[in-house]
Amino acid sequence: MDIISRSEWGARSPRNRQTTTWSRRTEFVVHYSEGPTTQTPRQIQNHHMDGNGWADIGYNFLVDVQGRIYEGRGWLVVGAHAPDHNTSGIGVCMIGRNGDATDAAKRSIRALYDEAVRRKGGTLRKYGHRDVTATSCPGDELYKWVKAGMPAPGGSAPAPKPPSGGTKAPKWPGRLITQPPIMTGTDVKTWQTQMRRRGWSITADGAYGPASEEVCRAFQREKGLGVDGIVGPKTWAAAWTAPIT
Ligand SMILES: [Zn+2]
Repeated sequence: MDIISRSEWGARSPRNRQTTTWSRRTEFVVHYSEGPTTQTPRQIQNHHMDGNGWADIGYNFLVDVQGRIYEGRGWLVVGAHAPDHNTSGIGVCMIGRNGDATDAAKRSIRALYDEAVRRKGGTLRKYGHRDVTATSCPGDELYKWVKAGMPAPGGSAPAPKPPSGGTKAPKWPGRLITQPPIMTGTDVKTWQTQMRRRGWSITADGAYGPASEEVCRAFQREKGLGVDGIVGPKTWAAAWTAPIT
């Protein structure tokens, strides 16, 4: 099972964290984000940390409609997804609304469940969020599937590989990307696309405007790079090679 790690999706560091143990983990709680399927884990994390004031993204794991699995708080960090069930329950969120769940998403949720059972050395109770809290979450469709025992559609086909990027940066384009005036080009688009992949809110339009510079500055600040808003060789390489947490 491929899990896209926090550093791969560009997670912010948690404000604090508390761990539990496998013996106390007895439940597996399925959620939906009730937002667009295009929402990134980073956007959800920003909402949870800045909007709700939580220490980190609330869920232990997230799954998108393509079946990609994202690390949230991870296996043994106490989450913020269901009151009174954050220590006992592993919270897994499907990114989407009722009716969005695909076979790929279900297979990945099931794969997470199976992995949790393997790590614990015992089964966990399968819950939809509404089993433990007054909520419509995880939507009728997904809830029905959880109650049916979370069968893996079409057997256990492996989840697709995480998005490319990895640890090797493409060749430095050989010019400093800066503004004003707004620079354009495929190198700008390549950098913007990679920053998007890391979870930053940025349009990959190939034009390096003020919004791109803002993302660049925030990234440089986070990475301890010189904060000048210019995509030079170090900032370019860090977009592919740097861990974030
Ligand atoms: Zn929920």
